[in-house]
Amino acid sequence: MTNDHTNSDISSRSGTSTLTSIINISSRVNGVAAADSNGGDGCSDLTPTETVKENGGPCTATGEEPYRLNPLGLNLVSDAVRGRGVFSSRSIPAGTLLEESPVLVLSKAEWDDGRMNETVLGSYGFCWREGGMAIGLGIASMFNHSSSPSVNFIRNYDRGTITFRTTRRVDAGQELCICYSADESKLWFTPAGREAEWKRRVEEEDREDEDRMINGLWALEPDELVDAKELDEAEKRRAERAKRMALRGPNGDVSISLGSKEARRAKWAEKERLRQEESSTGSSTSARGSSPSGSAASSSTRKSTPMIAPHAVRPSTLVAATPILPKYPSLPPRVISDLPPPLHSTPSKRYENPTPAVLCEDINWREDGEGSEQPTEWGLVRRIKGPADQEEGDDDTLLDLWVVEIDDTKLMRHMLDFSKELCGSDSKMRHLKRVARRPNVNGIDRQMIVLSRVEVLDRSELIDMMLEFHPALSIFSPFIYSVPKSAARSQEELRQKSPIWPVVYTPALSKPNDSSTWPDARKSWVDAGIRRVLDLALEAQQAGQVPVACFVSSPPESLWPSNDGFIPPTPGLRACSHDTRNTELHPLRHAALNTIASIADLRTRPPFSEMQPTRNGADYLLTSLSLFLTHEPCVMCSMALLHSRVREVFYVFPAKRGGGFEVTEDGGGFGVHARKDLNHRFEVWRWEGHVDERVRELLDIDDDLEV
Ligand SMILES: [Zn+2]
Repeated sequence: MTNDHTNSDISSRSGTSTLTSIINISSRVNGVAAADSNGGDGCSDLTPTETVKENGGPCTATGEEPYRLNPLGLNLVSDAVRGRGVFSSRSIPAGTLLEESPVLVLSKAEWDDGRMNETVLGSYGFCWREGGMAIGLGIASMFNHSSSPSVNFIRNYDRGTITFRTTRRVDAGQELCICYSADESKLWFTPAGREAEWKRRVEEEDREDEDRMINGLWALEPDELVDAKELDEAEKRRAERAKRMALRGPNGDVSISLGSKEARRAKWAEKERLRQEESSTGSSTSARGSSPSGSAASSSTRKSTPMIAPHAVRPSTLVAATPILPKYPSLPPRVISDLPPPLHSTPSKRYENPTPAVLCEDINWREDGEGSEQPTEWGLVRRIKGPADQEEGDDDTLLDLWVVEIDDTKLMRHMLDFSKELCGSDSKMRHLKRVARRPNVNGIDRQMIVLSRVEVLDRSELIDMMLEFHPALSIFSPFIYSVPKSAARSQEELRQKSPIWPVVYTPALSKPNDSSTWPDARKSWVDAGIRRVLDLALEAQQAGQVPVACFVSSPPESLWPSNDGFIPPTPGLRACSHDTRNTELHPLRHAALNTIASIADLRTRPPFSEMQPTRNGADYLLTSLSLFLTHEPCVMCSMALLHSRVREVFYVFPAKRGGGFEVTEDGGGFGVHARKDLNHRFEVWRWEGHVDERVRELLDIDDDLEV
């Protein structure tokens, strides 16, 4: 009986750490309701030394009086695993103030510059305000950790102290523990060299925590972990809110209208107030006359900081303090372990891919283009234009602008600043130089400055804005002027447009709209890629998957484009995948995402991890790779491909609705691959060659299925 009891006793305070480990207290622990699982006082006949001995730990030397810490009869006891800890020599009621320990505060700079984390003090710091750290004096640094602590603490920043108070009754011989971290019920470190013993203790505590949760005793709630100041403010806010609500409320029932969080907090504050009232009344009656501010204290009981110097309070006066233990059950923190695989090539600790990606077989193609199964179908891919490509047709058109003419150079600066502020962010004016010079008849240059598009502002609005910007600008009178609508894409265009208004020169590569001008080798390679994904999708379909497949590969070197901007791809890198949402029961396992994840994985392992990138960014996910898909991808996958810096995408079946690539004449659709407002563009081609009718049927998917 005694043995059993003692063991459960130890496990309840076990948990966790010697003080030689890092204390990371990130928030205040202000109240813990926990069952007194002992139920009785079976332990009262045990001295602390006996308690520890039963668990095999060496203690203070036999016969030696344990070191008495303070008038409450707390002992400092040594334990092989946990180091020194604070034990009670007698029964202590809940809510007892154990000590208000003074602290030495070091600023963040002092702590960091002194490299305190590398010293023994590094393990003893309490997080303080403004990133500082505090070293607790008195018993503050002697408490061990427990995730169900018997002692809570409040940092009193203004007083430079930490107050320690019991959260539940502590029996004689029990250890008093604090929680080092209010938001981490488990410590993340293990004391060096004691892993096995540690594991056992943590497991014991885990079991106990589970019991607590099952029994609804897990009452520590972050919402209630507010310090006194916050409580005061919460109470003030509550009162204000209540006033407001009372004005509005139909039946004056204010508390119902409060948010549940607010209501809980207010309820807790009320309880706390009652508790303070009770305890201060108790101490003022028993210590009457000894405190000159005794009556003042009871009249100001709404203050939540009635900290009494520990040594001035006799333990007997504390018996009256009733435990205020908020019992609002809250769910334990949930650990999310089933995240999708990382999209980047840094290995993630959260996701360990059970089956590493494999380099899939290369496709069969011929440099000379001969021998393909459907030679007559080559050349049948069509470029899918995005919004940015479509704007290219507007070359000859003009755009109406507000401009001003200026000859006073003193006002030039103001006008240029105004112009910059007004149209600097207008993407439709980005191709225009800001100033145009025109020789005047009498030899003096006229200067014109662009202000705004006519369709954006009317004349009176513009004049108001000029006045507001600078009064001197009132002398100018804006007028309408027609300028080229787009930049010059060739020297010829530049010669035509600049006399109208100077424009920027952005030479565009001529882009073919289909594969008719491609070399045969490229046709053969693309044909083979399309055949590969169709075959893969058929296999997926037979296996009960969504029949969408993807293949990505670095194009053969002979097919690399010759332009200067081309970043050579990682040679030999390729992967394929199909949709796996059905088997993995995960809605994001689309074929394209799976394939990107495979590439990310392959890049982390030899031989690809050993290759030196030829240029910065050459080893980034899909840089310069070509990707084949059976179906036009959804917007999510299209964006993933964009973020992965894919070079070109080929697909067979357009999405029936909501695809990421295709746009309609009337401006519908997304055209994710060619948009001015996104920072990467890639080519997209739709396969228009032959696809067997039966294959087409087998690979048909629901209209609204996102792939
Ligand atoms: Zn998708």
